[in-house]
Amino acid sequence: QVVNYAPFTLLPSAVPRALFEQAYAVQQDFNLLVDAISQNKEFLEQTLASTIKVDDFTAQLFRIYVQVLEEGLAQTVFLGINRSDYMFDCGLDGTAALRQIEINTIAASFGGLTSRTADVHGLVLKVLGKTEEASHLLPNNPAKGLALGIAKAWELYGSQRAVVMFLVEEIQRNIFDQRCVENELWNRNIRVIRKRFRDVFEQGSLDASRRLFVDGQEVAVVYYREGYVPQNYDQQNWEARLLLERSRAVKCPDIATQLAGTKKVQQELSRPGTLEKLLPGRSEAVARMRATFAGLYSLDEGEEGDRIAATAIADPDRFVLKPQREGGGNNLYGEELRQVLEKIKDSPERTSYILMDKIKPQPSLNYLLRAHSPLQVSECISELGIFGVYVRQGQELVLNQAAGHLLRTKAVEHADGGVAAGVAVLDTPYLV
Ligand code: ADP
Ligand code: MG
Repeated sequence: QVVNYAPFTLLPSAVPRALFEQAYAVQQDFNLLVDAISQNKEFLEQTLASTIKVDDFTAQLFRIYVQVLEEGLAQTVFLGINRSDYMFDCGLDGTAALRQIEINTIAASFGGLTSRTADVHGLVLKVLGKTEEASHLLPNNPAKGLALGIAKAWELYGSQRAVVMFLVEEIQRNIFDQRCVENELWNRNIRVIRKRFRDVFEQGSLDASRRLFVDGQEVAVVYYREGYVPQNYDQQNWEARLLLERSRAVKCPDIATQLAGTKKVQQELSRPGTLEKLLPGRSEAVARMRATFAGLYSLDEGEEGDRIAATAIADPDRFVLKPQREGGGNNLYGEELRQVLEKIKDSPERTSYILMDKIKPQPSLNYLLRAHSPLQVSECISELGIFGVYVRQGQELVLNQAAGHLLRTKAVEHADGGVAAGVAVLDTPYLV
């Protein structure tokens, strides 16, 4: 077992206050939206129809989704924990605009560790003699906010003896992030167990009313920190996933909410009229969300897809090519984007991707501190994430909140990749 410190910037990074506030102000809207999509079978079916023909992973998730609906949902309480990520796009006149990169609806991480980063940066600033600046850093405790949502779902499930189960990776590289959330639950006298898909396959069962038992303990809430990429699954793990989804336990997220977080869904949301259809009568929320969208384009077969594929091949630096994958390091840029798109432009395979306008933030200087890496100043760009938490019981939304933020910063020479991918590091916003 090897322990390293989580990578972080030496100094907090400047973030425009207005954009930071805008990101917080739209989070409850995005919570509502994700929740609405997860309940809209017709929308998910139509939107993912072309994708599941060519993308096996999304297709397998979709099969479980349909199977669970056909049997009828045993789950009556729903818990969403998501993180909406943004970059600050620099316009020709130098002003920055908030642009959403994506919403993560499964295993959105670093809410735990980042509950500590403001303290770290506050200390650094004090050591540098910047006591006044240190006092301006905002408190931030997503671990507490996420635990509040989990605790609410646990309470509504309604069994004192039942536990919360963290579904964790085979090789646990980010355990301390998870422990921060776990400890908040123990503080509320809620028992937590940590299990892998393999444990669920071996020790999991449902009773006649589809209550979930793992290793003899009833599970009220399943909090997935695993299960978002194909490599997380073999045949047994898919069976374990199906067992969990069929159960009465509150899944965070349920499989419908995981599908709501696909890149294909994100692209469809940017079509004129789609948000209005999903959230009728909520024109202000729709306007707030749309104001954060970057250009997104479908590569489905047909004239629209042909046209945008040709534009991207001619000018690849304007775009990012994204497959239906999570976790960083999967997107294509520049010359590689051009080559791949050239190769697949006349095949159905292209529909497993979407195209997005490339966001171009203004870089700034910082030190990225990472175990075993040389200390050097880097040109950096940042990505702001806002955590959202909501709980729904039947049709009634009983909790809908923004639960804190995460700032991740990386060197400009990396086009892609998060903290887990070894590219970005934890940061703290310094509002300007
Ligand atoms: P993943 O699900 O793998 O995290 P993302 O859509 O978040 O996929 O992309 C991964 C990373 O790629 C982001 O953290 C960001 O650094 C970069 N990226 C994604 N979309 C864009 C974009 N439109 N413009 C610039 N960079 C982007
Ligand atoms: Mg991402």
